Amino acid sequence: MPRLLCFTAHPDDEAGGFGGTLLHYAERGIETHVICLTSGTAATHRGGAKTADELAAMRRKEFAESCKLLKVAQGTVLDFEDGKLDQVDFYSVVSDLALRVREIRPDVIITMGPEGAITAHPDHSMVSILATMACHWAGRSNRFTDQLQNDLKPHQTKKLYYGTTLFTMPDRQPVSLPPSSAVIELTQRELEVKIAAFKCHTSQAPLFPFFEETVRKRGRLELFHLAAASTPRKIEAETDLFAGINS
Ligand SMILES: [Zn+2]
Repeated sequence: MPRLLCFTAHPDDEAGGFGGTLLHYAERGIETHVICLTSGTAATHRGGAKTADELAAMRRKEFAESCKLLKVAQGTVLDFEDGKLDQVDFYSVVSDLALRVREIRPDVIITMGPEGAITAHPDHSMVSILATMACHWAGRSNRFTDQLQNDLKPHQTKKLYYGTTLFTMPDRQPVSLPPSSAVIELTQRELEVKIAAFKCHTSQAPLFPFFEETVRKRGRLELFHLAAASTPRKIEAETDLFAGINS
């Protein structure tokens, strides 16, 4: 079964950034995985939680509900600190993520762009950089060699994509987005499930009206930039992230 792995920074990124695409591929027989690096405890909106631990538990549950709607086979929330991904130990986090890549063995990895996506959030930039290096180094036999025991092998992912858009938000810090090279056209139903998945994140309810307005205005397209491929190629316009992959 072909596999898709999505790396995100916060619970709700999986729905807001990639929800339509995750559902789209799950329903086409792709095994989908989401790894979210933080439990989102730095959020402005706290859903009535009194402590960070309470908010983390709430957001993990919301993430699980969102993943269920999006038919994600395996959704994982890691324990890195929200808002501080730019201060983590780079090598040890990439090692952790590369181990997960070697275990899941995805054909395609999707994540945010190093610009930080349209919100310019530094955690979004960092998940991009950390996941990018995990993708590349998981494939090399001379990286994280301590992992290559007990039958675990290097794994070269066939394609790496960054999510992107054709618009920026005027009230945010400037971002220079990766140009779109792949367009996934969602059905209206897939778009509605994406919105419903975002609304599983009830602690973030004050964001719902703005999110829904933005998503509906943006329409039924989720856009990606091909950032790396295991076979050398020229960039081409694609409508399928699995194009040219024979599993
Ligand atoms: Zn986020």
